[in-house]
Amino acid sequence: MLEDKNQKKTSIAELGEFGLIDHLTKNIQITQESTIKSIGDDAAVLDFNNKKVVISTDLLIEGVHFDLAYMPLKHLGYKAVVVNISDICAMNATATQITVSIAISNRFPLEAVEELYEGIQLAAKTYNVDIIGGDTTSSQKGLIISITAIGESNLDEIVYRNGAQPNDLLVVTGDIGAAYMGLQVLEREKQVFQVNPNNQPDLEHYSYLIERQLKPEARKDIKELLSKLEVKPTSMIDVSDGLSSEILHICKQSNVGCNLYEDKIPADPQLINVCEEFNIDITTIALSGGEDYELLFTIKMDDFDKIKANPNFTVIGHITEEKEGIHLITRANTKIPLKARGWNSLSEK
Ligand code: ADP
Ligand code: MG
Repeated sequence: MLEDKNQKKTSIAELGEFGLIDHLTKNIQITQESTIKSIGDDAAVLDFNNKKVVISTDLLIEGVHFDLAYMPLKHLGYKAVVVNISDICAMNATATQITVSIAISNRFPLEAVEELYEGIQLAAKTYNVDIIGGDTTSSQKGLIISITAIGESNLDEIVYRNGAQPNDLLVVTGDIGAAYMGLQVLEREKQVFQVNPNNQPDLEHYSYLIERQLKPEARKDIKELLSKLEVKPTSMIDVSDGLSSEILHICKQSNVGCNLYEDKIPADPQLINVCEEFNIDITTIALSGGEDYELLFTIKMDDFDKIKANPNFTVIGHITEEKEGIHLITRANTKIPLKARGWNSLSEK
């Protein structure tokens, strides 16, 4: 996990807006050929030659999308970048640049913003994207971060949500559900801590789940892997809101139905144990949890042989005709309609 740092406190007001931007961006280096002009002018300039450009943006609000009580700022910066890059990966494109806009309340010392930026810069380095601009302003209430990710792809490589066809196989990368349970563990520890601040949490049994929540990674590797295997998905989406809502997106946009098999959904052993401990149904977590940032996609049945031996991929279902509907086939072999119980920040769970 990333380190936490807590030392001196410098007031942001002393620096002023331009001083702060300068301070935060002075070490930023550019590595992408497509970046012609970066931070420092009224706008950045990019050149993608004959590639297509994909763009995605996300807004993160303190108290809605993150809680600084258990989210260290460096992790938050890292995650804010990763969730955007994940959207670029879900188009089967390669992320190349980001812009970073932040609104900070005056309760933040400079060191806190530096920590946030350390995470942002670490993610930019890890995913090889240039930070090419942004905006910096003050906020009356809480921290706001908006990141825009830009990526490139050849037109014939881009994958949309709407290309799934009957008989295609439904495939997911990695494992599902761990990030949500990581959040449950952190929420529980926060409550324990509020009752007794001297209580030192022992989070070793939960390390994988917490890492998935606090330091998720985007599946930047999948585009290359699929291209090596000579598989082009027919549709693709990233798993940010839980499997069921992502499956519904693909099916609605592709005008198809789907059978998802409960016993095929990949789960980490640590998740299985902790669901038992919390007495929570693991399938509910996989379907409705979210924040896994794995990729969910469909492939032609003929491509099955190309992916079947690869540990990154699990076939969890298949696409059907639209009139057959969207169903979960349970371990007991009953068929129940899949509902969009995916995580929705606008409504109470
Ligand atoms: P403007 O007045 O045109 O909005 P700013 O003074 O806000 O310009 O920004 C100056 C430069 O710094 C611009 O290139 C802008 O993209 C960049 N910038 C501002 N804030 C950030 C930030 N938080 N992260 C990265 N770049 C930033
Ligand atoms: Mg500005």
